[in-house]
Amino acid sequence: MAQSHIEWTEMTWNPSTGCDKISAGCKYCYAEVMARRLQAMGVTKYKNGFELAIHENALSIPYSWKSPKIVFVNSMSDLFHQDVPFAFIEKVFNVMNDNPQHVFQILTKRSEILLQYSPKLKWGHNIWMGVSIENQKVMNRMEDLKKCGARVKFLSCEPLLGPLPDMKLDGIDWVIVGGESGRKPRYMNPDWVLDILDQCENAQVKFFFKQWGGTNKKKTGRVLLNKTWDEMPERLG
Ligand code: SF4
Repeated sequence: MAQSHIEWTEMTWNPSTGCDKISAGCKYCYAEVMARRLQAMGVTKYKNGFELAIHENALSIPYSWKSPKIVFVNSMSDLFHQDVPFAFIEKVFNVMNDNPQHVFQILTKRSEILLQYSPKLKWGHNIWMGVSIENQKVMNRMEDLKKCGARVKFLSCEPLLGPLPDMKLDGIDWVIVGGESGRKPRYMNPDWVLDILDQCENAQVKFFFKQWGGTNKKKTGRVLLNKTWDEMPERLG
């Protein structure tokens, strides 16, 4: 487990690592860059770089946390990657259900696998499920998310690569929006962000603005309409 600098969570927990790129949002995948860096540093968990790997020994970690945490599950992977066996996903869910004092946030781009497995999984109130939606081409992920068993459902629109008009936000609890950062960030039009904010306000969905991004994300910051937007769903249970 590691403390996270990601604004919408507190900690990360990576029972699997590694992934493959599947859509435009993956182009400058941060996890890939980090995995290669950690591999070069000789970190055992990343000995195969960004290749998919599961880590049975990571399953005990959440039992050791003393105080309640908000935890991003698999910041370095995708739990619903096609090469993660269902039996392992089930074990990860067992750990999350055994630890209702913590909130676990899972984010996937493989919503069809999520949908396929969802009925076989136990969805405790502390398991928040999200899908990435970077542009309209992948809007189908939201429909899959709506059909899954999670009690709290969210969208991560980061890096936001195009407008997302007319989203059907019924059944969605939380939307995170952010621009791309790094050496070659792709452009995010402020109008796209304002439109999503409007839609969230109309649908009474919590809105979190993570960052404008760009080559110097500290400088561009995260202020939108003269304020920061840090809304989050209530903890249930
Ligand atoms: S799905 Fe996520 S972890 Fe996997 S390549 Fe894409 S951005 Fe990276």
